Amino acid sequence: TDPLVRVEDLQKYYYEQDNLTDRLLGKEPESVQAVDGVSFEVREGETLGLVGESGCGKSTTGETLLNLREPTGGAVYFDGENVFENDDLTEFRERAQVVFQDPFSSLDPRMTAGEIVREPLDVHGLGTKAERRERVAELMERVGLSAGQTDRYPHEFSGGQRQRIGIARALALEPDFIVCDEPVSALDVSVQAQILNLLEDLQEEFGLTYLFIAHDLSVVRHISDRVAVMYLGEIVEIGPVDEIFENPGHPYTEALLESVPRADTSEQGRDVETLAGDVPSPRNPPSGCRFHTRCPYAREACAREDPDGYEVEGDEDHRAACFRRVDDHEYWSSPPLDEDGRTAET
Ligand code: SF4
Ligand code: MG
Repeated sequence: TDPLVRVEDLQKYYYEQDNLTDRLLGKEPESVQAVDGVSFEVREGETLGLVGESGCGKSTTGETLLNLREPTGGAVYFDGENVFENDDLTEFRERAQVVFQDPFSSLDPRMTAGEIVREPLDVHGLGTKAERRERVAELMERVGLSAGQTDRYPHEFSGGQRQRIGIARALALEPDFIVCDEPVSALDVSVQAQILNLLEDLQEEFGLTYLFIAHDLSVVRHISDRVAVMYLGEIVEIGPVDEIFENPGHPYTEALLESVPRADTSEQGRDVETLAGDVPSPRNPPSGCRFHTRCPYAREACAREDPDGYEVEGDEDHRAACFRRVDDHEYWSSPPLDEDGRTAET
């Protein structure tokens, strides 16, 4: 069966501020390759986790595939149709929703909870006034709030409650697919579990498909069926969650799994934002394999050639963009890249 979402070679470049004196000199504005040729699918009913250090392009991937940001290139097929070539996105906007990281800044402080949840119904012109009111009450209750709270403003709710309002709003149009962009990162650890459980219950009840973006590996491991790992605008590994965590095929994934646990939540596992070493700038990414400036296994071939996603141990569902996955690659006969060769690229 076709996946619900298929992303093909998605690109999103930002341009630095256009400088006219540079233009006079014939210089093109510098681009930041936030997302640089990303391909993956999200299968119906699953949760695909998207993980990586901050700035790796994971949020931009989510926002661009929803067409909330204009893509630089590539295609996104939603239920078989190319979203970027569709002139009427009304149906797509109903079926594909987003829950943002920060419920404090993503909700309009001047609107009541009820108005926030009702707004998508108003915009899409669904139901009579009475029906909308009833639907809002039903949604509030479904996410663990009470219908009596609809007249309160965001500042009157806790962080977890605000995220529940964001989730109720995302559910209002009965979507099939939700991009959850760090939905629990801004919340206390005790509240995180409640929100994750709510998202899991809703997924089961409504048959939802999630793209779940996060930097906290324990959260990703808990909620995902499959996981994609991003580094500097590219997906370097993708596979079933247990494979990624127990049998990683890419040195970057290995490094993430070895990164130090967060000090504040020692039992909460590992946070990829604590990985050692500097991430090179996406303005000028390293040649060849983009991880070669930080990779302990780097050889000269890695600085020259860009690896594809190779099967890990013959598993076509588990791929890693590393030459070490290919037995007869010239990588193996190539000399190791010394410290200078690695740092020279940054
Ligand atoms: Fe490391 Fe080379 Fe594999 Fe890249 S291709 S991850 S530099 S070993
Ligand atoms: Mg982000």
